[in-house]
Amino acid sequence: MNKYLIIALFIMIASLDETYAQSSVAFHVSFSEPQAHYADIEMTLDGNTADFTEVKMPVWAPGSYLVREFSKNVESFSAQGADKKALTTVKLNKNTWRIDNPSRGAIKINYRVYCFEISVRTSFVDEAHAFLSPTGIFMYPADKINMPVTVSVTPFKDWKKISTGLDVVSGKANTFRAKDFDILFDTPLEIGNQDVFEFDAAGVHHEVAMVGGGNYDKLRLAEDMKRIIEKESAIYGENPNKKYVFIVHNYQKGGGGLEHLNSTVLGASRLAYSTDKGYKSFLGLVAHEYFHLWNVKRLRPKALGPFDYSNENYTRELWIAEGFTAYYDNLILCHTAAYTPEKYLEVLCEDINIVSNQPGAKVQPVTESSFDAWIKYYRPNENSKNTGISYYNKGAVLGAMLDLEILHATNAKTGLAEVMKAMYDEYYKKQQRGYTGEEFKAMAEKMSGLNLDNFYRDYVNGTSPIQYGVHLGHAGLTIINDNEGSSKLSTGLTLSATTAKLTITGVERASAAWIGGLNVNDELIAADGNRINDKAELDNLLSFKKAGDKMEMLVARDGLIKKCVITLKTDDTAKYRIVADKNATAAQMQIRKKWLGL
Ligand SMILES: [Zn+2]
Repeated sequence: MNKYLIIALFIMIASLDETYAQSSVAFHVSFSEPQAHYADIEMTLDGNTADFTEVKMPVWAPGSYLVREFSKNVESFSAQGADKKALTTVKLNKNTWRIDNPSRGAIKINYRVYCFEISVRTSFVDEAHAFLSPTGIFMYPADKINMPVTVSVTPFKDWKKISTGLDVVSGKANTFRAKDFDILFDTPLEIGNQDVFEFDAAGVHHEVAMVGGGNYDKLRLAEDMKRIIEKESAIYGENPNKKYVFIVHNYQKGGGGLEHLNSTVLGASRLAYSTDKGYKSFLGLVAHEYFHLWNVKRLRPKALGPFDYSNENYTRELWIAEGFTAYYDNLILCHTAAYTPEKYLEVLCEDINIVSNQPGAKVQPVTESSFDAWIKYYRPNENSKNTGISYYNKGAVLGAMLDLEILHATNAKTGLAEVMKAMYDEYYKKQQRGYTGEEFKAMAEKMSGLNLDNFYRDYVNGTSPIQYGVHLGHAGLTIINDNEGSSKLSTGLTLSATTAKLTITGVERASAAWIGGLNVNDELIAADGNRINDKAELDNLLSFKKAGDKMEMLVARDGLIKKCVITLKTDDTAKYRIVADKNATAAQMQIRKKWLGL
């Protein structure tokens, strides 16, 4: 290293500190009553130039597309001026407070947040630890969302560790900084006595904070996580972080995750690490959330950043942002050999079966499913399966089919992975903006030489049946429906036996029950004069019938007894599996090898 370089570095570091030094927003978090699930927040705002200031609490957490109204957990909001005298505050709407500040001096705001919702996108505090999901904890000044922020924490009693992707302020204990509120809102904090282990992968230092105990093997986990991280980094040709933090919440029964720029929060089942299924499903979650650090956190649909924290942010591209991530979370496990190719194809068929059998897949295109995530995916009801399809399941299936089409068109030289990298290079790195749905299609067409008009018309913007056989055929694979031609009957009912009553909880579109007028919430009492206590008894009666036969159903609805006669139909539920052709051509084998990473 020469001296000019040292001077240049010194100037860079000094100017970096300068940026943070001008910070006019500082938070202090403490816990006076953790047993009652409260976080105490103090927010200091200086550099005020107006007679009043407005502060807001986000209504949603990016990555989880539902308005959650985080301000519902806020209480005891107050403010004081530089002279320590109380300032007048007015609540303007559900998530906005105005503070009158005639002297224009520094303002200190205090409020408390009730944190008792266990999930990866909400906050939780008790005597053992605090998980702070930032969008539900920190308010932002309406006109200063781009300002640097510092956060200092006073941990409760004997809490010794803080795990977060926020930058550490050197020389100040438990103090962190973010260059703006977008970074703060994207960086959760775990405070307590978590079990932390570390490893390096793809040139990045990784920290795993295990909360809540569990039967995990740290060495084995580090090895397997490393393999996933290196495969995923290879797809994009770089790993943009210096440090990455996994915060893992181990519950009796847990799951799900939320992605962030340089960290993630995962839910896991404490004792599931020792079973093959539980362990692989945890690795799948790791692969999913880690893939997001490129797909959605950096390579993102246009509507997803900069965010509007007070309203819904609509995009038709969640089938790419979430669905393709769900496609890769399983495929990567095949590439790291955590799954055999046979197991991977079985897992792919789980998504294929959902897309094939869910009546809503014939009603709702996947772009519409993405757009309506806010009111449908995150707010399911008893009829959701009949009216919609998840952008995770269908997006994952479309990812696989598009991958195979591109591989086929390029003689296995280019696949979807190369398209993802090209999109990342073009829109995240070069143009530094989000992409549109048309731009994604154009890139896939450019890289493959294909015209994807029909693929988009039929599968993306339409609800036509997916020609699995055609696409899988490119890799010398055949899809078989094991239920084809079955004479088994189906009523189309979903039943749940609670409090000794057999209640209808679902009626499948166009099924015998749907046409015959059975309703969700009806209590099923008898069929053809036989008392029915559980689903097995109903299935037993069905086994003596044939398609076209009538069945008289006795139900209780809203306190009245009612008879419905249904006409039985055969069960057309598909049960697919994919098998490898022994006589596959060399070209098909080449595609299969590149696709499955063999
Ligand atoms: Zn996801």
